[in-house]
This record gives sequence, structure tokens and C-alpha cells, in this order.
Amino acid sequence: MALLLSPPVLKILCTIAALMLCCSVNPATAKEKEIEYDLAISFDPARHLLNGTASIILRPGMGLNLDNAGLSVTGVMLRYQDGREVVPSLPAGSRFNLPAESESRQLFISYTTDTERSTENLISSDGITLTDLWHPIPDRAMLFRLQAKLPKGLSAITESDHFPLPVDGDMVTGISSQPHQNLHFAAGPYVIDSLEVRQGLRVYSLFFPEDRDLAQDYLEAAVRYLQRYEKEIGPFPYPHYVIAANRRPTGLGMPAFTLLGQQVLRLPFIKDTSLGHEIVHSWFGNSVEVDLSGGNWCEGLTTFLADHAYRADQGQSAIDRKERIINYLSYVNEKTAMPLAAFRSADHRVPQADALRATGYNRGTLLFAELQEMLGEKVFTRV
Ligand SMILES: [Zn+2]
Repeated sequence: MALLLSPPVLKILCTIAALMLCCSVNPATAKEKEIEYDLAISFDPARHLLNGTASIILRPGMGLNLDNAGLSVTGVMLRYQDGREVVPSLPAGSRFNLPAESESRQLFISYTTDTERSTENLISSDGITLTDLWHPIPDRAMLFRLQAKLPKGLSAITESDHFPLPVDGDMVTGISSQPHQNLHFAAGPYVIDSLEVRQGLRVYSLFFPEDRDLAQDYLEAAVRYLQRYEKEIGPFPYPHYVIAANRRPTGLGMPAFTLLGQQVLRLPFIKDTSLGHEIVHSWFGNSVEVDLSGGNWCEGLTTFLADHAYRADQGQSAIDRKERIINYLSYVNEKTAMPLAAFRSADHRVPQADALRATGYNRGTLLFAELQEMLGEKVFTRV
């Protein structure tokens, strides 16, 4: 189905494209020259709407498959190296496939998405969370730049080499030199506090004003975890680590930041358990990424190095392992048993999430505990 653009929409799209082209011919840093996916977003909090424009560079010989699920595409345009502009046809479904061509091209897609009924995304005047299908998702990891026009009084976090995010007027920018397939974004009327871990590494808290009294304990706990794991694993892969509050009840670990639900943060045990788990994910899962085709090994390893290790610190290693075996036997039966290598994720939305979790997290932990037992502490730690 060909996409028909009304003149005003076409004009807006061309203006955005022209602005983005202006950006791309300005003197750029080495990293900016490599950016493949430029994303510009703005918000309408009263209507819970996100407006976005994605600009994706396609080098000669490169095709692209985009997933636009959950998005209303309002315009699409393809600009060739010689300046030719064409409006490609959009299929009826959410997948948008562009075959490879011999010329270099730039694809522009403008879209809106309504978050009012979303259980994960949120756009409101007192908080923004974007964690699920909020921009066109490419079929491979790319170098992103995100520019977000923020409502007054909010500050933001996303995957970025720098924190706090550079601000220009009401626009914040995140540039990540690590390729991603999709980004996460949160903004709120945050109070920002921070502590230095060592030269070149700081931790930050982005808590809502009503929870600011919790920040210092979280920051001090994060410093302890980072110091512990830099000794156990190696240098922290990022120059900052941010603990950001979310109006939604999440416990997500992204490169260099975690998004913890506001209610979750208020639970007294989170900084003694989940925070350490999410910090270990900065090494395993976010820096050393998981190729899911070979199974998800990182939840077992992370749980072993965090949750299980904290019990072991208290002399409860055997009890913890026993509890994990009981949990596994309680949820996994003949129908739900599977090889550990078949574990991908235990998203709470999938059926049998408890059995999957018992396998990936608990049996995974027991595998690493057994390896440690077999190899001995010294060899295991060196490996
Ligand atoms: Zn985890």
C-alpha cells in the first residue's frame, strides 16, 4: 500500500529531513560521523503522545527490516546520495522491509505513538518512561543518537556515553558508542545526587523529590558494589552508573543505568539485593552481550555473582542453593523441563514464567556453583 502524504505532513517531514541533513554536514566528532540511527522525539504529556522522527543511514549494499509495531507512521521518505527523494510504499503490517541497493541512502520515518493504554510506556507531566516499542526497531544493532525535547522541569536518562546528558535549551542528547537495537528512555522531575567511586567513575541517583531521602543509601550501596565487582570482575565498562526511579514498577538493567520502580525503590531490601544484581548486568548482559541463539547464560551468572554471593557472604551458601533447588522442583515438571541452553528470558508476560525463571536463574546459578566447586575458587575466579 502506497503511503499518501498530505501536503502539511510532507512539508513537516521535508523540514525535519532538511534540519537533520544540516546537522549531518556540520563539523562532527568521530563518533557523530559513525551515527547510523538518529532519533528525534518530543512529547505531548496531556495527551500521552510521543512524536518522533527516525533518520537511518543505509550504506551501499545494505537493506533494512524495521519493526514499527505500536507506532502510527505519519510519513516516510528515502533520500539517495544524489539528492533524489522518493516515498516508499508502506506494507499493511508493522514490518517495513527495504531491500539492499548499490547506492547510499537515508531513510526518514516520522511517527506518533499513544501511550495511554500501555502498561510499560508512560508519558505524563510527572514522569516519562519508554521501554517498550516506542521507536522503529531495526533488524540489527546500530549506533544511535537520541535527541529529546523535554517538557519543562524534567531531566532525562538514556543509553549514553555521557551523563548528565548534554542539554541545549529544552533539548537533551544521548550518544552511545555501543551499538544498540533499541533504546530506553526515562525522564522526570528528578533530584540528581551523586558520589565518586574513583577517578573517572561516578554513581548518580535520579529520584523523585518525595523519595530523595532514600538516595544517599542507594549511592553508598552502589559505590560498595562497584568497588567489589571491579576487584572480582575487572574495570567497570562505563564512566557512570545511574539509578533512576520509574513511575512504572520495573527492575531493568541497561548499559550504565538501572530503572527501578518508585515503589520498588522504597522496599528496604532492594539496595541489598536487586541493585547489586543490576550492577553486575553492566558487565554481563549489557557490556558482554548475550547471543540468545546459544541460550541466555547471563541471568544464571549474574544471580550467582550477586544474589547467591550475598547469601554466601552471610555463611548461607548451602541454604541458598537448597532453596533454589526447592524452587526449581516446585515450578518445573515433565512438561516445563528444558535444557538450560534453551532459556532465553523469563518475561512475566510469557506463560510458564515461573518455570522459566527457575531454570534460567536458579538452575543457572547452580551450574556456576557446581563449576566453582569443581574448579576450586582460585581457578574459577581466574577463568
Ligand atoms: Zn537479571
